[in-house]
Amino acid sequence: MDLGKLIQERIRDVDDYPKPGVLFKDITPLLADHVAFAGVVDAIVNHRGRGTVDKIVGIEARGFILAAPVAYHFGAGFVPVRKKGKLPSRTHEETYDLEYGTETIEIHVDAFEPGDRVLIVDDVLATGGTARAAAELVRRGGGEVVGLSVLLELSFLQGRGRLGNLDVHSLVTV
Ligand code: IMP
Repeated sequence: MDLGKLIQERIRDVDDYPKPGVLFKDITPLLADHVAFAGVVDAIVNHRGRGTVDKIVGIEARGFILAAPVAYHFGAGFVPVRKKGKLPSRTHEETYDLEYGTETIEIHVDAFEPGDRVLIVDDVLATGGTARAAAELVRRGGGEVVGLSVLLELSFLQGRGRLGNLDVHSLVTV
């Protein structure tokens, strides 16, 4: 079966989550289907054109689930980007706007060797604020961002447009 079609079938729309008026894309049915989950990981790993990759950055929380097996298959290290206050050692932090309020994410200051080539992985690209802040954290940490891979891009929110010339690879765009 076509992977894009399978992905779309395994993502569940949840109305009014996490707040009224929001249509949430729930990837848990996809994760529970081993063919779909493995297909997604393989498609990210096999996406060409980024040269060598030293580290995979996963964004809390669902990004971790995809980024860890991608790192394993790439033979790359895994680096977490987490919500403020969750990482134990010294961090860089970036604050960005959400629809209501702000969010702050962090990365360990020593997460990278100078010049590490870094691929960022997350589940959903929506407004692009999270990915943009994560890319900035990588740069501040001394890494070079070679791209962003996401399972699902919500194109009507125009996140890609906020990411400058970052190489954005999405498996499914709606
Ligand atoms: P953005 O910063 O607006 O692009 O939102 C992307 C971040 O919010 C990602 O880390 C996603 O995990 C999360 N996110 C936003 N919308 C959804 C959704 O519909 N389903 C799952 N995660 C979402």
